[in-house]
Amino acid sequence: MNEAVRADEARYVMQTYKRAGVEFVRGEGALLFDDEGREYVDFLGGISVASVGHCHPKVVEAIRSQSAELLHVSNLFYTAPMVELAKRLSETSLGGKVFFCNSGTEANECAIKIARKHARSRGVEKPEIVSFEGDFHGRSYGSLSATPGLAANPDFAPMLPGFRSVPFDDASALREAIGPDTAAVLIEPIQGEAGVFPLSDETLLAARQACDESGALLIFDEVQTGIGRTGSLWAYEQGPVRPDVMTTAKALGGGTAIGACIGNRQTGEVLTAGDHGSTFAAGPVASGAALAVLDLVDDPAMLRRIRSLGDRLMESLSGLDQVAEVRGRGMMIGVRLAEGIDAGAVNANLLERGLVANAPRPDSLRFLPPFVLTDEQAEQALSLIAEALAGYHPVESK
Ligand SMILES: *Cc1c(COP(=O)(O)O)cnc(C)c1O
Repeated sequence: MNEAVRADEARYVMQTYKRAGVEFVRGEGALLFDDEGREYVDFLGGISVASVGHCHPKVVEAIRSQSAELLHVSNLFYTAPMVELAKRLSETSLGGKVFFCNSGTEANECAIKIARKHARSRGVEKPEIVSFEGDFHGRSYGSLSATPGLAANPDFAPMLPGFRSVPFDDASALREAIGPDTAAVLIEPIQGEAGVFPLSDETLLAARQACDESGALLIFDEVQTGIGRTGSLWAYEQGPVRPDVMTTAKALGGGTAIGACIGNRQTGEVLTAGDHGSTFAAGPVASGAALAVLDLVDDPAMLRRIRSLGDRLMESLSGLDQVAEVRGRGMMIGVRLAEGIDAGAVNANLLERGLVANAPRPDSLRFLPPFVLTDEQAEQALSLIAEALAGYHPVESK
């Protein structure tokens, strides 16, 4: 890659990311191209953002036409794309009002505010929000406080008060943690950043029941699982319970920055004038892009394709000798490698071979391919994965 870019990044960009040594300059569908013209199959999709594929013509056209008309006026005025998007999000999910923001982190901040104000209205003085160990909800102080793995970092103490966590997928620990002071249970239906770990139906049912009994809100962070990723528009649709509040971002804007917190008929009424805001949120360009994304994804044929292709990928991956476990749903896939195989090294090897993925934990790879992945690209990716793993001889039996 261009050494001047590498050097300037090191000199001028705060070193919060350990980047792979590739500079991408172009994307098309499920393919990426680097500055030397090399082609890659993208099995990460910009971390579940490029779900309709890179530079989808309908998304590009929505951005192009809207950006020539009006880029920004703020939320002090009406803009039709924003209102249309709120209607689409509400009617395809919980049926209540929507708050817009610019990221997943911010969507969760809004959900936390709703939970605390809702608890206050019930007379709860010290509202508490319960999450699972391994959950990822974001990087600003509210969402960070709800992210147990990062909240423990003493460099950034103190966290916000009123957050606690219980062991992952432990229904009885969750039930015990929920009481009269619980404002909300804030959880990912399938943990993404942790490495793709679906919650069991038993735990989801326990969460719903305990929230109903205590008056707490059940909040699903669908920032990664939403927008078709699991084969339904929202992951909760395939599970046994419905949340009271839901957050989305990542794939929503097709590559533009937009997030949303969606309420039901009750929770959508909690925040009122002055309670929350955002200068950029749901500007006409991002809203137009999001409407184009929803047109593409909220389509039975597309959702069927996500499920069938996802199933095929998971089945093929399960058949590899060096794969110990395949987790996930739809095209959100985590692969635990056999004992002793370093996922980070395999991931680096995959990148050299022309497959973009990531290794969220030392034993697992994560695949979040664009939904427009063709059968041929899927086969190509599977061959590259098999080749990258071929040098390893598993010691673990399945
Ligand atoms: C990525 C992610 C977030 C944070 O979203 P940002 O847009 O990076 O702020 C929050 N929750 C989940 C589940 C995520 O995957």
